Amino acid sequence: MTTSTRVHNFCAGPCTLPVSVLEEVRDEILDFDGTGMSIIEASHRAAAYDAVHMNALADFRSLAAVPDDFAILFLQGGASLQFAQVPMNLLAEGETAGYVNTGTWGKKALGDAKKIADVYEAWTDPDGAFDRMPTAGEIEVRDGARYVHLTSNETIGGIRFTDLPSFDVPLVTDMSSDFLSRAIDWDTHDLVYGGAQKNLGPAGLAVVVVRRDRLSPHGRSLASYLDYASHESNDSMSNTPPMFAIYVMGKVLRWMLAEGGLSAFETRAAERASILYGAIDNSDGWYRCPVDEASRSQMNIVFHLPDKDLEKRFVAEAAEAGMVNLKGHRSVGGIRASVYNALPVDSVRTLVEFMDDFRSANG
Ligand SMILES: *Cc1c(COP(=O)(O)O)cnc(C)c1O
Repeated sequence: MTTSTRVHNFCAGPCTLPVSVLEEVRDEILDFDGTGMSIIEASHRAAAYDAVHMNALADFRSLAAVPDDFAILFLQGGASLQFAQVPMNLLAEGETAGYVNTGTWGKKALGDAKKIADVYEAWTDPDGAFDRMPTAGEIEVRDGARYVHLTSNETIGGIRFTDLPSFDVPLVTDMSSDFLSRAIDWDTHDLVYGGAQKNLGPAGLAVVVVRRDRLSPHGRSLASYLDYASHESNDSMSNTPPMFAIYVMGKVLRWMLAEGGLSAFETRAAERASILYGAIDNSDGWYRCPVDEASRSQMNIVFHLPDKDLEKRFVAEAAEAGMVNLKGHRSVGGIRASVYNALPVDSVRTLVEFMDDFRSANG
């Protein structure tokens, strides 16, 4: 298979990956580094895997500028497990935290945390539209709250905190869908987490970055897999780690470093978003973005056409032209173009040309 057979993949997750990374994986799949086997057949205690694992940890730390007083954990269960595992680890019996309900994912995080601890909803969109992020002043921080939980980017609604708010209380942020596409302010955080499959690699891996002094025992008795401390003390190898996902993510992190690091990806994200929103805004209202301008996501760009039939044809004709996974989430409809780190800016240019042609033909 040559690269010319590849589509422009606007999938909301799992994401498109750099071709150079996929080619390396292909080249190493029968014989990793002279071991005579692939990395997924190797022992996770072997030197070959150990190097892959430790390099991925180090490269993540370097890319995200993670300070030494934070531990980086590679866990299974996706970001979804973190909805429960975060309160299990950060809240002692009787403690509380505020959860900001900004849409599908914020609501899920709140729902699962409620099953673990006595947490509260710190904000929800009063008119139920979930088309904007709240200001810091709108978020309720109760006395005694141990953290405020945010979703930096709502993947389905297509909104993001352009600037994360900060409070006297630390933040815990689900960054699944804009992970390592923007700088992270570690001073305001106790914990950041995300599934790898939106921006960093294949599914099967979540990355949790947690302030080490929050790992101290707090009275809850946790099964060892659920206890962050047991992963931290074993470099996330207390059981068999998701080796293939870590191996591929490690290659993506290397690629990101070689391409200029986090700031280069921040620039690319802004460029992709400005091209796409530009096309929407310059269409005389034919394409319409339903979210508040100040909260527009740079990763998941949602828009509507004048009617549902046109949207259906748009998705079908785009797919014929090699642009796939543009259908909006079933809960909101419309079109969603997910433009993650590894999506070339050229894919966005191709989409925008298609949008102009489609409008001329149907407008
Ligand atoms: C996709 C997503 C999740 C769920 O991730 P899984 O790894 O599938 O559990 C959680 N939060 C956000 C913001 C997401 O985009």
